Amino acid sequence: MTRSLSQEKTRAQNKTVLLQSLFRDGASTRAELARQHGLSPVVVSDLVTELLVDGIVEDMGVRPNRGAGKPATLFSLRDSAFQIVAVSIADEERFVGVVTNLRGHVLHRAEAEVGTRDAEGARVLVADLVARLVEMATAPVLGVGIGTQGVVTNEQVVRVSSAFGWSNESLVDDVRRTYSGPVHLINDARAAALAVHTYRETPEDSLLLITLDRGVGAGLIIGGALVQGTHSLAGEIGHIVIDENGPRCPCGQNGCLDLVVSVPHLRRRMTESRSSAALESAARVLGRALAPMIAVTGVSDIYIAGAVDVVTSSFLHTVRETASTRVFGILADTVSVSAAPGGEDLVLLGAAATVLSAELGVS
Ligand SMILES: [Zn+2]
Repeated sequence: MTRSLSQEKTRAQNKTVLLQSLFRDGASTRAELARQHGLSPVVVSDLVTELLVDGIVEDMGVRPNRGAGKPATLFSLRDSAFQIVAVSIADEERFVGVVTNLRGHVLHRAEAEVGTRDAEGARVLVADLVARLVEMATAPVLGVGIGTQGVVTNEQVVRVSSAFGWSNESLVDDVRRTYSGPVHLINDARAAALAVHTYRETPEDSLLLITLDRGVGAGLIIGGALVQGTHSLAGEIGHIVIDENGPRCPCGQNGCLDLVVSVPHLRRRMTESRSSAALESAARVLGRALAPMIAVTGVSDIYIAGAVDVVTSSFLHTVRETASTRVFGILADTVSVSAAPGGEDLVLLGAAATVLSAELGVS
């Protein structure tokens, strides 16, 4: 049967709807899928057959009949149908990588010590790490995801990374020389936000994730979609000026948010003052910076990812108190600020989630 281009497009969209439904809501029957998504039973049946042949959906057997009518077969997403290779180059000391299944469960792990920070060395190291991980995979690899510091453009180029001193580096070119499948590059804060959204048991439809590391970053998800922003600059909050009379920042401005809440600056002040006052004050600064973001986006589920000595429960409490007392009362009651789940693997899981979203339309 030959299908027109628009028929092909509709078919692909419907397929994504079914996969998303099976990923998010678990096993389902053809009739339930049709009813839930307003599709004809014939269309669903046809697509399910195709997904079964592709091996991405599996037959779970007949569900015991709960009433009159024919018992129906349950189908679920086959988590082991593909594996995903994810690499994080967010750390300056070592690049780490994992192989995951479609649910983000880590199956294999590898890492590489970073000897040099120049882009050429990094490209080779990443390509080598990816090649090792692809080799470890025991199912077809859906794609490779790379989480990195810095601004990542839609063209998959690291436009600028202050930590590594890179500008306009295409880190994926070397990977593509040894791996012929899809490769996706994503900023680390965005990756972290996508990981929380994709792999949480009860996914938030909208959330704001803040990363506190050598710098401060943000990943914003609204209505299930990652916000890219004009010129792919959404979430670059580190150089918001919070004190015009503050110290000079390497970016050329004075008193950037980075200088107050990035971990190296914060730890230095914590050591100097030998008290929790520095942490408390940083939490208030961050809370004040978050208030307008909450007001503009209406997103009130906030996660903070960072070192455990910084993201303490009292830090989270102060951020929440400060932010919520600076927004409209109705909104204030909904503000929640918690530590991001996922621990050290958060960026890796986000890189895997990027592949899942880009290749299967599932998140
Ligand atoms: Zn700055």
